[in-house]
Amino acid sequence: MTTEYFKKSKIFRSYSSPGYINNVKAQYMKLKKNITGIIDDLAGLFFPRICCACCEVLHKHEEVLCTLCLYRLPRTNFHMLADNSVSRLFWGKVQVFQATAFFIFSKGSHYQKLIHQLKYRGKKEVGYYLGRIFGNDLKESKDYRNIDMVIPVPLHPGKQKKRGFNQSEIIAEGIAFSLNVNVNVSSLFRKINNETQTRKTKFDRWNNVKEIFGVKNEELLENKHILLVDDVVTTGATLESCVNTLLMVKNIKVSIATLAAA
Ligand SMILES: [Zn+2]
Repeated sequence: MTTEYFKKSKIFRSYSSPGYINNVKAQYMKLKKNITGIIDDLAGLFFPRICCACCEVLHKHEEVLCTLCLYRLPRTNFHMLADNSVSRLFWGKVQVFQATAFFIFSKGSHYQKLIHQLKYRGKKEVGYYLGRIFGNDLKESKDYRNIDMVIPVPLHPGKQKKRGFNQSEIIAEGIAFSLNVNVNVSSLFRKINNETQTRKTKFDRWNNVKEIFGVKNEELLENKHILLVDDVVTTGATLESCVNTLLMVKNIKVSIATLAAA
């Protein structure tokens, strides 16, 4: 049988028709989907995904937190309340437009574990996921709806290299995704590392946070409403230092959002 003869044959025409090829493609995609599903189920059996707060096994549709932990998350809703315990930290010290924290945790609680998983266990998905939900909440408030840019509190470059990432940047990315704005990591930078200050007195700490940040590419921030993002707020000293640096930029407005308040 010559090639020409074969190409004219009924068999060749039926097997090379668009209908037949599309049918094979559809069958292949269906099989691929089934196999992927089986692999996912097997992986789930041997390496179950667990809730980052209570450690219960997650259902297929759940992400990072189980439905119950998500429901019970102690949200502050401070974004709907200008006078709140986070904004009060900055009163009389530095001009902050609005300040909020997503949730409050007490020491040793399920929800403190979330910060720990992100910061020390490298579980970036925790920060990004919570940042996304936080961002959706922030959109409810007219004060946060007009944010132009999100800036994470920077780590010292040495520290970031050691940890591999900046936890605040991950949270900032989640928030920025929901607010549909960009994250800026090039303008605000940390000049000195003041992270090891746990043994210092409160007075030393306040002195220590002065002049630790710097700002460059200022033109990117001029006339903008910036949302400054950190993982946890306690005394607010580090955030205050950041805001002081940012306020050197012409006609800038700064608000603050942290994932947690301790
Ligand atoms: Zn849970």
